[in-house]
Amino acid sequence: MRLPRALLDPQLRLPAADDQGLVAVRLEQADGRIRAIHGLANGFVGDGTGGGTPLPLALTPLVEPHAHLDKAFSGEDFPNPDGTMAGAMAANGREAAERQAEAVRRRGERALERAWRYGLRAIRSHIDSLGPWALPSWEVLLELRRHWQGRVELQLVALVPVGHWRTPEGEAFAAWVAARGGLLGGVLGAPFRSTPADRAALLALLRLAERLGCAVDLHVDESAEDPGRGVALVSELLLRQRLALPLTCSHASSMALLADRRCCRLAEAMAAAAVGVVALPSTNLWLLGKHPRRTPSLRPQAPIRQLQEAGVTVAVGGDNVQDPWFPGGDFDPIALLRFSLAASHLVPWRRLGLSPFSTAAAQLLGLDWDGVLREGSPADLLVLGASSWGELLARPPRRRVLRAGRWLDPPSSEEPSPLLAACHG
Ligand SMILES: [Zn+2]
Repeated sequence: MRLPRALLDPQLRLPAADDQGLVAVRLEQADGRIRAIHGLANGFVGDGTGGGTPLPLALTPLVEPHAHLDKAFSGEDFPNPDGTMAGAMAANGREAAERQAEAVRRRGERALERAWRYGLRAIRSHIDSLGPWALPSWEVLLELRRHWQGRVELQLVALVPVGHWRTPEGEAFAAWVAARGGLLGGVLGAPFRSTPADRAALLALLRLAERLGCAVDLHVDESAEDPGRGVALVSELLLRQRLALPLTCSHASSMALLADRRCCRLAEAMAAAAVGVVALPSTNLWLLGKHPRRTPSLRPQAPIRQLQEAGVTVAVGGDNVQDPWFPGGDFDPIALLRFSLAASHLVPWRRLGLSPFSTAAAQLLGLDWDGVLREGSPADLLVLGASSWGELLARPPRRRVLRAGRWLDPPSSEEPSPLLAACHG
């Protein structure tokens, strides 16, 4: 197959990558692990002098750094026909008011099953964690985390208003989450105007997380106003208080509206504070700046290139899947990749164009495997029915997923649709 050079052991002597950044290789596997990687002279089956069949493009299974399993697939029952932020908030509230553990289990199971067959190997999911549904949701998703261990690694983040972490109940809940290997989360915005109370609440959360040895993942600046204010405060507090903890800013959307120099200076401060960023283009482009009669010209989403340039680790996530916040998505990393390459001007044949979906996402989640194939790494592959990046962008490719040396059955969406059967004849 043809693999991006960035996903192959950099120590390995291989033929030079082609102009798409791909190297043709033959892989040997035994007992679910890669035993050897052999470079091939060209990317064709046959002699490559014409008429040969091109080898398929392959990746290692990808990583979803930001999801909401507790509300996934709820959009049909709780629609948001205007597609606005306010509409999403209201529909989410109606749905949460009657959220039951059984529904969360169904949604989580469906999400993980699809993710697994589509070629995801890890998901970080936020869980609405303030309300009567909070503990039942956690219990169910912790059970699913155990059940799916070794197939899709599930990380769970407690999503509450940041001020909750300052209350005695919040502190007790944080210890409960930390004891179960969860992360602390919260929302700054949107928009985020940063009052002294917000500052104190955020500082209390960061100190609490540091004391508990817990990572933090915040929803920050998911708006088109007060650009970058939330991420600026997070970075400033981490640097000034000399706090050392893994911290991810999810969204960081409004930052893109800063003038170029201010944006770059903020990105440098974030790099110095070791803040990671998860960009969420699909939900941002769907919700932010929505106008009833106009197509917006300002499209706030994390300025991925400027952040990378400054040395910030950036991943791209899908965020909402078929819920009031975004009607699309399916836990399909290839669909997200195809969408995001155009939406975020990423080029997959460069290392930093592909890393947000693979190695950088693995790094942000602190996964054991970085996603680079080397001798001894898992025999895990996502092999595509496309031989080049252009073909991948031209049409949704079929795929085969190899996990620990065994091929999985394809996702049901790649089988013939029963909906079309009525048209036959
Ligand atoms: Zn989110």
